[in-house]
Amino acid sequence: MGAYGRLMRYVWALRREVACKTLIGLGVAATYIVQALLMAYAVTLVFEHEALIEVVKLAAGAGVAVIIRALLTWASETYTRVMATRVKSRIRDLIFDKFLKLGPGYLNNKRSGKVQSIVLDGVEQLEPFLVAYVPQMTTVVLVGLIVGIYLCTLDLVSGLVLILAMIACAVVPYLTLPLVNPIHVRYWAAYAELNAEYVDSIQGISTLKALNADKTRAKQLAGSAQAFYKEQIHNTTFSIFDSTAMIFLTSVVSCLCVALAVYRTGTGAVEITAVSMFLFLAAECSRPMITLNDAWHASFMGLSAANDIFAVLDTPLAVDDPKDADTVSLDSGLPSIRFDDVSFAYPNAESEALSHVSFTVEAGETVAFVGRSGAGKSTVANLMLRFYDPSSGSVSFNGVDARDFAVRYLLSKIGVVFQDTYLFDDTVRNNIAMANPNASEEQIRKAAEAAGALSFIEKLPEGFDTMLGERGIRLSGGECQRLSIARAIVKDAPILVLDEATSSVDAKSEAIIQETVDRLAVDHTTIIIAHRLSTVINADKIVVLDEGRVAEVGTHEELLARKGVYAALIEAQREGVDRG
Ligand code: ADP
Repeated sequence: MGAYGRLMRYVWALRREVACKTLIGLGVAATYIVQALLMAYAVTLVFEHEALIEVVKLAAGAGVAVIIRALLTWASETYTRVMATRVKSRIRDLIFDKFLKLGPGYLNNKRSGKVQSIVLDGVEQLEPFLVAYVPQMTTVVLVGLIVGIYLCTLDLVSGLVLILAMIACAVVPYLTLPLVNPIHVRYWAAYAELNAEYVDSIQGISTLKALNADKTRAKQLAGSAQAFYKEQIHNTTFSIFDSTAMIFLTSVVSCLCVALAVYRTGTGAVEITAVSMFLFLAAECSRPMITLNDAWHASFMGLSAANDIFAVLDTPLAVDDPKDADTVSLDSGLPSIRFDDVSFAYPNAESEALSHVSFTVEAGETVAFVGRSGAGKSTVANLMLRFYDPSSGSVSFNGVDARDFAVRYLLSKIGVVFQDTYLFDDTVRNNIAMANPNASEEQIRKAAEAAGALSFIEKLPEGFDTMLGERGIRLSGGECQRLSIARAIVKDAPILVLDEATSSVDAKSEAIIQETVDRLAVDHTTIIIAHRLSTVINADKIVVLDEGRVAEVGTHEELLARKGVYAALIEAQREGVDRG
């Protein structure tokens, strides 16, 4: 119930829309009541043997009520869509904003299918509660009260019985809440799990095919689908039972009230006209209640999804802006970077990825990080980018602790080329200008040229206007990386972090990228995280990492002469090449 209470805040933000929808809902209810009243009068006239034309007039009036209702229902449905779109996009914006703040450190540990379920389906499931249930609640109360009070004026006893019985019916669904809640939570969990597995399988489809593991995976998916199916049947059975029970209860209450009114007419306590009023209007009391109950049921998935959504929104930020965050210290000149006794373990990891790491990158220097796979090279980049903060020790830029900067400000000063370049489903131009949307055509072109990307871009069917498919699949690895370097150049940040920028690219691309990086390094503080040792020979300093510790620091020549870890890495690579 807590989640629903919290959801009401979003409804409050939309109070005008909710009020408007409620008014339309009341209009619809009013047409039902007018129709029922006119029909009740018509029946009374028939019993009183009045002229047929009078009855026809009343029936025509009821027909007009039906037409007005159709129009109001159309308006209500249209309005509902507008409301739903607004509130859902507001919640999605909040979640996305939170994901951005939580950053890769949070998302890397989540299954993408689960995240997708929360943002897309989870928010979608909130719609019935937000745009149907809440406005309908007001309608039920108002219609129930107005009709009930009117019927009380005809017969106080039957009217009161009707009001009390309807209140009891309204309370029943809430009493079953502890019973139904776990069913819906399980249903949502099974749904999110199934979704995650499908997304996982689709993303890894090439691997599944290549490993001939598609059949095994299909079996697994069928198992999850079966589990979801069971939850769905369970859930549906319960919902249908609950709705049917509500329809049954309200119908019984209406019948009993009519019967009571008939009995009291027999005893002479009330007039005969009251019977036909009860006959038609008692049903109009229960109609909005049944609609409310339907909306309540449709809202249940939303409750489970809301728990997941609020869990995301409530996740404390591992990395946050301090009060009076520094937004000036990196504005002039090239920054220096210092790691001072930095230790860091990834969340839920058993051992530290970095242990007591210290080094300094002077302003304008090019420092390369080398080491075996898993040595901690990418972790160094992750800490510089404040995807995480160190568990102990400090990372500082120009002598200012990274935690004292506004995160956005710090990131605006670092251009990054990741080993896995992500190109968005957009034009080449927009992909390059991503970090600087105001970049001029000239800047974008120059950056592409500097990154050695211009020649292949010009060969694309529509040049800079060519759309890149999802994940840039139309480009080779080397071309993707060159675009990524162009992106970093357009960003025009004084620090450049190249994370294994030349791994997994062809020799021609490697030569072009290497030449670009050497040129860029001249007027940037440059960090190179490399597997191919040939790419770091010219670095001012090489930091050799081994199992999360700094094993050696020096230039290529110094480290070779030392005959230590670096020399062994060079030797191992040479042997690998020779064997290859
Ligand atoms: P390198 O870049 O040198 O190959 P990394 O910095 O990526 O090494 O990894 C250092 C250590 O941290 C490895 O043991 C790796 O398994 C672990 N690691 C890397 N990323 C994560 C993560 N997101 N969660 C948990 N452990 C991680």
